[in-house]
Amino acid sequence: MTSLDTPALLSWFAHAGRRLPWRDEGVGAWEILLCEVMSQQTPVARVEPVWREWRDRWPGPADLAAAAPADVIRMWGKLGYPRRALRLRECALVVVEQHGGEVPTDVDALLALPGIGDYTARAVACFAYGQRVPVVDTNVRRVVARAVGGAAEAGPPSTRRDLAAVDALLPTDREQAVAFSVAVMELGALVCTARSPKCDDCPLAASCAWLAAGKPAWDGPRRKVQTFAGTDRQVRGLLLDVLRDGDGTAARNALDAVWPDATQRDRALGSLLSDGLVVQAGGTYSLPGEN
Ligand code: SF4
Repeated sequence: MTSLDTPALLSWFAHAGRRLPWRDEGVGAWEILLCEVMSQQTPVARVEPVWREWRDRWPGPADLAAAAPADVIRMWGKLGYPRRALRLRECALVVVEQHGGEVPTDVDALLALPGIGDYTARAVACFAYGQRVPVVDTNVRRVVARAVGGAAEAGPPSTRRDLAAVDALLPTDREQAVAFSVAVMELGALVCTARSPKCDDCPLAASCAWLAAGKPAWDGPRRKVQTFAGTDRQVRGLLLDVLRDGDGTAARNALDAVWPDATQRDRALGSLLSDGLVVQAGGTYSLPGEN
């Protein structure tokens, strides 16, 4: 595998990288973990205000661990995939009970925390603790696939293979490796985007394998396009809104009013109950801890 042009990448990031609040000096490991969990499949613009609210209200793991689950779900607002809110609280509990309230530094210990997967564990180790570990998200996979692999898309993910591919590209110097990881992710978010890569503005254009090959079309498996309208996810959100926007409890008929398809509505409500985001007592439904 060839390499990425790290100097070009880093000098591009120095002037084009976004000033995001979690990239500021002095932001702690817990705040970074919070932002990484919130940012999964969620645009930065939606994450930022919620991240600030959480940080102000629950500055550290001990504060979140002591919070009521209903408040945590409310404060999650419209970020989507609300199980993440409860998992973050569980994570805070484990950080307090098993790590003395400090986010662990070791990737394996991070991976053992509730709700923390391969990407988040390494993102925290790298961005919070300055470790030289490969950090692989969708953006990174796409940039590497194009610039190094010469393919339009990254193909199906494989944790082992993806980590090894990015590890092979990481500069050996620790600080450079951290800077490299931030910059590749940013390039994937701003320039080498999924639908319309801006190759004319790209610092890797001179060395990009896909561009050099004439941007061959992707002939591998197609990515699933995620839709929202009409899905169970949308119905779950509407049901949760009834509880979140009111006093935290609702009768069945108030929930029934949000969606006309009874089968889909029942399925969505059933999944909220089994995820612990909603609890039922007789004919009343509540956010956990509010019935
Ligand atoms: Fe992506 Fe184009 Fe840059 Fe290659 S030149 S890395 S395809 S934006």
